[in-house]
Amino acid sequence: MKVAIIGAGFGGLAAAYRLSRSGASVVVFESEDRPGGLAVGFKEPGWKWSFEKHYHHWFTNDYSILKLAAEIGHKVIIVRPKTSTFIDGKIDQLDSPLTLLLFSKLPFIERIRMGIVLAYLKLTPNWKKLEKITSENFIKKYMGQKSWEVLWEPLFVGKFQRYSSQISAAWFWARIKKRTTSLAYPEGGFFNFAVALDNAVRKNGGRVFYNAKIDSITRKEEKLLLKTGKHIFEFDKIICTLPSPLFVKMTHDLPQNYTDKLLELEGIGAVNLVLSLKKQFLEDGTYWLNINASHFPFIAVVEHTNFVDKKYYNSEHLLYVGNYLPNDHSYYRKEAGDLLREFYPFLKTINPKFDKSWVNRGYVFKAQFAQPIIPLNYSQKVPPFETPIKGLYLCNIQQVYPWDRGTNYAVENAEKVVGLILKSQ
Ligand SMILES: Cc1cc2nc3c(=O)[nH]c(=O)nc-3n(C[C@H](O)[C@H](O)[C@H](O)COP(=O)(O)OP(=O)(O)OC[C@H]3O[C@@H](n4cnc5c(N)ncnc54)[C@H](O)[C@@H]3O)c2cc1C
Repeated sequence: MKVAIIGAGFGGLAAAYRLSRSGASVVVFESEDRPGGLAVGFKEPGWKWSFEKHYHHWFTNDYSILKLAAEIGHKVIIVRPKTSTFIDGKIDQLDSPLTLLLFSKLPFIERIRMGIVLAYLKLTPNWKKLEKITSENFIKKYMGQKSWEVLWEPLFVGKFQRYSSQISAAWFWARIKKRTTSLAYPEGGFFNFAVALDNAVRKNGGRVFYNAKIDSITRKEEKLLLKTGKHIFEFDKIICTLPSPLFVKMTHDLPQNYTDKLLELEGIGAVNLVLSLKKQFLEDGTYWLNINASHFPFIAVVEHTNFVDKKYYNSEHLLYVGNYLPNDHSYYRKEAGDLLREFYPFLKTINPKFDKSWVNRGYVFKAQFAQPIIPLNYSQKVPPFETPIKGLYLCNIQQVYPWDRGTNYAVENAEKVVGLILKSQ
């Protein structure tokens, strides 16, 4: 059986690894020059480890990807980093029951209510009934109006923008349920791990091509044809891991009612300003700082080197200044220098000592399809893996549910698709 996989993100690589182990003839086509997809990384001269274009970590219960790492012998580090909130001009650690109890920005009674609701979400497996209520209404009803306004509303609006009041409480459940206080990270960085997976695929006899953009998919009698540049290749099965709008654009003869349903599902993009600094920015050691200030032009400051030791990056301090934004936002057209100029006074509010002379280099990274919008009753909207075209499978970010998107679920869904393919033989 000849199988093509479009995309060498973690979904595509996991599918390629599992299929190549089962004896199928596997070819991966990736339009970029390297593997990793949304979790891709890069390495500057002098760095020992690669570093992601967009902040990435795993929870310690991300079992599918941790199992895959163990299987190919890739080591993982586990760290307990600090998560905090910037609120009323001050950084407050907020990542445990005790820090919530001490969080003075909310009345004591609301802290207790929030603690009880968070504990309930941690324990209940019943996300199904939560998909019938929005996160906003759920939080207001059970945690209280003030909790919503002070703590959650700025985060929902920052992350989902104009969609913030549509997000289902099942999405909120997943975020709380999955969160672990310790986090995991692949040794060498996500890019290094992707390269290790690529090597494992090749060792099993699979092939991976980079700078190989697929232009179209067509069904011709019993075969599927893939066109890349001037070349056309024939396969028995194809797994496409691309976001739905790209999949629809490249695939011939998909029924209209199917594409309409796929394109109804919406998503939001991400723009990350990344700074390499001479000094630590979040001096209290915070890794993840949520910005609860609606007038700020970014929603999170993530100091990677407060999570992974700076010794792997030539002692540089690496900082993300993160945003989720609709694709028509002006930040998609800006350079790192423009964003730094715009963000500078706000960064100085967080750390008044911060100075432009601290900056070694700036980068800006943009991803058009970064986060699916999860509205009410999403379980009835999740696209199936099997498409109306026989032998063609879709496995993308929009099919991760009820959990929130992540590399772990790219792997989990890819393994489900491989199961379907092997069963269909
Ligand atoms: C800001 C941000 C933060 C995140 N944080 C985390 C995190 O902390 N932890 C976590 O686990 N996950 C995180 N994620 C999510 C995670 O990156 C994704 O869920 C996961 O990488 C998706 O993998 P995938 O293989 O499904 O798709 P993708 O990674 O999107 O892979 C698709 C691949 O297809 C390629 N491609 C596109 N068009 C073509 C074409 N025409 N021909 C051939 N190839 C093509 C792309 O270049 C890409 O490599 C984050 C994502 C973002 C954007």
